[in-house]
Amino acid sequence: MATGSSLILVILFTLLAGITIGKFWERYKLRGGRWIDRRKTKQSPHYILGLNFMVSNQPDLAIEELKKAISLDTEAIEIHMILGNLYREKGQVGRAIHMHQKLLQRPNLNTIEHAYVLLCLGLDFKRGGFLDRALEAFDEVLRLDSNNRYALINLEKLYEEQHQWELAHNAREKAMALDNNDSHENKPILAFLKNELGLVAQQQQNRVEAKHYFETAIELSEQTIPAYLHLGDAQLISGNVAGAAETWERLVDVAPDRAYLVFDRLREIYSQLGSLNKFQTLCQDLINANKKDWRARLALGRHLLEQKDAENALEILFEAIIYNPHSLSIHQTIWNVLIELQLQSILVKRYMELTKKSIFYLDPHICMQCRYRSTELLWQCPNCHEWNTFLEEIIAPAETEDAEPRE
Ligand SMILES: [Zn+2]
Repeated sequence: MATGSSLILVILFTLLAGITIGKFWERYKLRGGRWIDRRKTKQSPHYILGLNFMVSNQPDLAIEELKKAISLDTEAIEIHMILGNLYREKGQVGRAIHMHQKLLQRPNLNTIEHAYVLLCLGLDFKRGGFLDRALEAFDEVLRLDSNNRYALINLEKLYEEQHQWELAHNAREKAMALDNNDSHENKPILAFLKNELGLVAQQQQNRVEAKHYFETAIELSEQTIPAYLHLGDAQLISGNVAGAAETWERLVDVAPDRAYLVFDRLREIYSQLGSLNKFQTLCQDLINANKKDWRARLALGRHLLEQKDAENALEILFEAIIYNPHSLSIHQTIWNVLIELQLQSILVKRYMELTKKSIFYLDPHICMQCRYRSTELLWQCPNCHEWNTFLEEIIAPAETEDAEPRE
């Protein structure tokens, strides 16, 4: 899958490498005494054209031009690196590995060059699925250049793939220490990794440690939704019912669109505490804040049905189905209510009117990063491996006047 975005990554990376190596360019041309050749290469139309084709996403033409540029100066390490990267992005991993390994055999590589070639090689191995060798390469890059953020991030991703959460966490923490001013990107990821560490601790029966991880995850980034779920569960197990309620209520506050994840949990707790009316208020507040919240309506409908208030349950559920006609669970609940109301034909007819144009689909969750689809809500995308990228896609019917619920 040689996509445009991965090509842009290659370009960015290449430019980054180019800048770093550029600093050493000066020294090189003096050392070798061949500075005129170097300048020739950089000013050659082939090199410039190659870069231009790369930017305009034409890798084949870029390769042709860069090959010509190399023939003018076979020593030019930068161009070999770029060419290898282009082969990798085109899926010719064997060729990329061969090119980068050959560069490593050069006797005069300085430390930075050595690190960058290894980084390229690590990416080749990763792309080819040789994960152990990729790990080795990135580790070696960090040994040569401990501040190499790119190697750290790649290591993190590899560890995540292998569910080595502790190592992934440490890699991200180091990367975060490097970009000391901007942690907007790092904190949420680190928080999700802490949540995973909490789950590991929980499996090992280390409840105190697990709770600490979940709390730290929430502290780092309040949008780490699964951490609230797990923290509340842990609190409940240790008998802290009020604490669990508080944790889940906080989830509802910070992420009302994810509130449905704790509906069953909160209802159970409120029922235990003898304050079930709190559940009704919670759903009502969510609906008032966002009139399209069909999940709060569904929860309220179910709740009213259990309270033997079938008439009001049905009205709420009819509103819910307008906002999401594809949800099977609303239809099923409506049928339960209709049965409860002895299938009054006037109500069944209203239901049929409302659902005439309903379409059903199976995988409503979609990754905003790579458009991967999933039937369930995932916290990390199995395709692009980004954290917290899933949204629920609602294919709503065209909104017409008569489709609006009465306020
Ligand atoms: Zn994705």
